[in-house]
Amino acid sequence: HVKSEARGQVRVYESKADQVIRDRWVLQADLGHALRNGELSLHFQPQAEINGRIFGFEALMRWTHPTRGAVSPDEFIPLAEESNLILDMSAWVLKEACRTAAGWTHPLTVAVNLSPIQFQHGELPQLIQQTLIDTGLPPSRLELEITEGILLGDFAHIVGLLRRIKAMGVRIAMDDFGTGYSSLSYLQAFPFDKIKIDKSFIQAIGRTEQATTIIRAVIGLCRGLGIPVIAEGVETEEQRSFLAQEHCPEIQGYIIGRPAPIQVYSKIVDKLAPVRTS
Ligand code: C2E
Ligand code: MG
Ligand code: MG
Ligand code: MG
Repeated sequence: HVKSEARGQVRVYESKADQVIRDRWVLQADLGHALRNGELSLHFQPQAEINGRIFGFEALMRWTHPTRGAVSPDEFIPLAEESNLILDMSAWVLKEACRTAAGWTHPLTVAVNLSPIQFQHGELPQLIQQTLIDTGLPPSRLELEITEGILLGDFAHIVGLLRRIKAMGVRIAMDDFGTGYSSLSYLQAFPFDKIKIDKSFIQAIGRTEQATTIIRAVIGLCRGLGIPVIAEGVETEEQRSFLAQEHCPEIQGYIIGRPAPIQVYSKIVDKLAPVRTS
C-alpha cells in the first residue's frame, strides 16, 4: 500500500495481514535451503506397552532456522507441502530414520510420518523399497503413519499404493484417528496395522464425559476389528491409569518420554551402551 504524502514523500505501509503473508513467504524460501544447509534433524519419541516397556520410536522432523531457532512442524510442514519441498524432505526423513534404526542393537521399530503429497508424486513404494535396501532395515521394523486426509484423494489409487507397501512387510498406521472426516468406512477398505487415537481425546480425559466415551468406543472398536491401538499425547498418571483400566494396549506421550535426539535414548536402543552410574 503506497500512500503519497505532503512534499512528494512516499511511504510504504504494510498491514498486519501483509506482514503475515510476507513472513510465510520468507520462511518458505528459507525452507528451500534447509535440507541442503543441514538445518533439518530428527527427534525420536518412544512408544510403549501400557506397562511402560518401550518397543519402538516415532521419528519427528525438526527444523532449526539459522536466526529464528526451532520452527514447529505444524508451521513448516504445511509450507513444505505447498511447495513440494516435502518430497525431498520426506525422502531424507525416511532414509535417516531407517538408517538410525538399522544401527540399533535392539530390534525396536521405527515409525515415520508420510505426507499426502507423497501419494500424488513419484513412486512411493519404490522409494520405500530402495530405502530399506540401502539402509538394511528389515521391513518388519518400519511403520508408516498416514492421516485420514490422505484417503480423501483418489481412494482406489491410494489404497493400491498402501497395499503394495504393506506387501513388502512394512506396517501402516492411521495417525490422529478421530480428527478427520471419513473415520469409519476406510477401516473396512484397508487393513490398517495400527490406529493412533489422537491426543486431543487423551487430553480431555477427566475433563469431558464425551472424550472418555469416545476413547472407550475406539478401543472397543479396534479390539473387535483386531487392530492394535495406541493412545498418543499421554502426559499424566490420570490419563495413563484410565487407559490401563480401559485395556488400551499401547501409549505414546511425555509420560513415557519426550521427542529427543536418539542419543538421549541410547541405553534403550543399544544394549552395548554403557549404563550411566551417576
Ligand atoms: P504427529 O505425527 O501426530 O506427532 C505427534 C505430535 O505430538 C508431535 O508433535 C509430538 O511432539 C507431540 N506429542 C507427543 N507426545 C505428546 C504429549 O504427551 N503431549 C503433547 N502436548 N504433545 C505430544 P510435533 O513433533 O510438533 O509434530 C507435529 C506434527 O507434524 C506431527 O503430528 C506430524 O503430523 C507432523 N510431522 C512431524 N514430523 C514429520 C515428518 O517427518 N513428516 C511429515 N509428513 N509430518 C511430520
Ligand atoms: Mg505421527
Ligand atoms: Mg498424531
Ligand atoms: Mg498430528
